Formats: sequence, C-alpha cells, structure tokens
Amino acid sequence: MNAPLEYDAILAWLQEEDPQRLLSLWQMANETRHACVGDAVHLRGLVELSNQCARQCAYCGLRAGNTDLTRYRMTAQEVLAAAHQAVEFGYGTVVLQAGEDYALSARWIAQVVSRIKSETPLAVTLSLGERQPDELALWRAAGADRYLLRFETSDHALFTLIHPGRDGRASDRIAILRQLKALGYETGSGIMVGLPGQTYESVARDICLFRELDLDMIGIGPFIPHRQTPLGNQELWTQFVQAENDLLHRPCANQVPNAELMVYKAVALTRLACPGANIPSTTALATINRQNGRELGLRRGANVLMPNLTPVQYRSLYQIYPAKACLTETGTSCNRCLRLRIGAMGRHVGVGPGGRGARAVFAGRRDVQRELATPASGHHVSRSPSLDCV
Ligand code: SAM
Ligand code: SF4
Repeated sequence: MNAPLEYDAILAWLQEEDPQRLLSLWQMANETRHACVGDAVHLRGLVELSNQCARQCAYCGLRAGNTDLTRYRMTAQEVLAAAHQAVEFGYGTVVLQAGEDYALSARWIAQVVSRIKSETPLAVTLSLGERQPDELALWRAAGADRYLLRFETSDHALFTLIHPGRDGRASDRIAILRQLKALGYETGSGIMVGLPGQTYESVARDICLFRELDLDMIGIGPFIPHRQTPLGNQELWTQFVQAENDLLHRPCANQVPNAELMVYKAVALTRLACPGANIPSTTALATINRQNGRELGLRRGANVLMPNLTPVQYRSLYQIYPAKACLTETGTSCNRCLRLRIGAMGRHVGVGPGGRGARAVFAGRRDVQRELATPASGHHVSRSPSLDCV
C-alpha cells in the first residue's frame, strides 16, 4: 500500500494536468481501493423523502427561496415501501435524505427508523441536515446506523457566505460531525468541487480534513449551477449578498473548475488519504458524464453507488441541480442498470450492509423502540400521516 499523502503532495496532484502522470494517480487509487475495501460495490438505496427545506443555501435548488418548485413530503407508508423494495433488490442499506424539513418531527423519523429496523435487515443512513443533538441521539437510539452531512468546503469564509445560518446562529457542520461520531454513528461528509471562490488549496485542505475527522463515508461531486439559485444566477446572487461581491463574475485566482477531471482527482486523492472509507461514485458525477461517469469514479477510488428508490412521481421534484441523472427511471430499472454496469467492469455487488470495517449493524435500543411503537399523543406531521396510522 502507498504511504498516506500530505497536504503539499495533495495540492500538487490536484494541479497535475499531465495525462500520463494522472494515469499513475488512478492506478494508485484503484490499487488502494482494492487492497483496503475490496472489489465489492455496495449499493445504498436512496429515498428522497422530502424536498421541503428551511434553509437558503446559495447553491441548492431545494432552498426555501426557490418558489418555482412544487414541494412534497413522502408518507411513512411510502418510505417503508421503498425500504422493503431495497430488501427485494438485495441492497444492504437505505439512505433517507431530505431538505432541512422541520415538519419531519424527531419522533416521526425515529418511528420510521424503528419500523425499518424491526421489519428489515437494512442498515439505515440518515441525511436530514443540521438537526438538534437530542434529535440525533433519539434517531441513533431508534436504530439509525449512519449519518451523512457534507461540510461542503472547509473554507470557512466561503461556507458562511453560501450557507447562511438560521435563527441568528451560524452553521457549524464540523461540530455536528463530531457529535455524530460521539453518538456512535458511522459518519459521512463530503464536498462539492468547483464552487465559485473555491481554490485548489482549499480542496487540498478538505481532503486533509476528511482524514483528520476519520470519516467513515466521503461523498464528492461537482458543483452544478442551478438557475433558480444565487450561485447559478447573477440577479439572484446580487439580491442574496446585498452588497458588492463579484464572486460570480470574477472567481478567485486559484479557482478550482467544476470539471469532471477535478472530481476524479479529488476522489482518487481521498482514497489515498482515507484508504478504508466508503466513497460513492456520486449521482452528480453521473449527471455530468452520463455515459461512464459512474464507472470512472469506481475505477479511480470509489466503492459505492446510490441507486434511487424515490417514487417516480417525486423524483423530478428533488431538483438539487438541473438535469439530474435517473430522473425518470423506476427503482427496478436503476437496479438493473447499475448491476449491469458493475458486472461489465469485472466488479461485484456487495452483500450485506457494507459498513466501514466489520462492525455489525446497530439494532437500536429496545427500550426506545418499544416506546416508539406506542402512538404519540397529539403529535402529527403536516401533510404526512403519522406512522401510528400505518
Ligand atoms: N439537506 C441535507 C443537507 O444539506 O445536508 C441533505 C440534502 S442536500 C440536497 C445533499 C447535498 O446536495 C448537499 O450536501 C450538497 O453537497 C449537494 N448539492 C446541493 N446543491 C448542489 C449543486 N448545485 N450541485 C451539486 N451538489 C449539490
Ligand atoms: Fe436545504 Fe440541504 Fe439544499 Fe441546503 S443543501 S438548501 S439544507 S436541501
């Protein structure tokens, strides 16, 4: 195995353009992936359970300020049906992702998690944004195994600019990642590559931070501009910053491009820096290269894919960025397509939950699960029937 890379080497590789030298980077990343996490490609069934969001992230199409988007929230029955479909397809994990939607009450989520854990052998990953420590603790006790929260960029000034705080409080995603680890979650984070104002140096620091945080899962995708967001629309940007700020017109000197090649470099270097992590070849990458973006990600360090299990009527509404891959496909066709692609690469689909190392899937705390099985009094989620009625 290769020695772990340090900041200077990571930065040099990010700036490398020579195709021959890059071939050696891809090879090192692929060998490290093979030696440390094997040839299995783990499939995580993704359920986008709500596109409602209280936040105003300047990059994301689900931001509260996007009034052009029809909003939805799945019912508990729909989420459970998707989880059972994950089992039917042979997936080991279901990922429940949403905007930061406070109408998804802590108890409702805990009940959904508890039901999935009692009815299926699945590992449950949550990706629900920045929620309170007691909520994260309740979901863990209900049986949630993993939590994904990307820090997006380690450049604090840039993050603060494009990810405004709420209720007068700035976001501190790094602190939440540390809380998640202390609660016993397998913890995932990640970045977008090519944000306006993001430098090569800051991406090198992101990769060092992945290692420092000892993350279990690391998702890296290109930033894809969306016309209904400030980072994708000069007019909205001017309203958003309400001050002189020419970030969109004149990005910084060392601006990282939001190009496919940059994403592969970041994925490969992350594999070298964090050899045992689970690293997806992301849907955003498949969006900018539909033909073989997924495969190239898997050949350059990644070992996970996230087939979509969101019911088709909701998929096109989960518009984080435009022209997302697999928008009109059903869960069945996504499953078939990804298995064919994995087989054609000479790799195989992972069996079981595929967590980091040999850690068993968490069963949840029995006392908490018993309590969650009793109907909540006067506790309902708007527009989404409570689990008690399932
Ligand atoms: N709301 C949760 C959160 O923010 O963590 C989870 C859902 S959020 C849509 C998931 C991820 O989408 C974000 O962490 C961000 O990295 C990614 N994303 C948002 N807008 C994007 C864009 N325009 N291009 C690429 N990725 C984007
Ligand atoms: Fe909401 Fe997450 Fe999108 Fe930010 S990135 S607007 S928190 S869904």
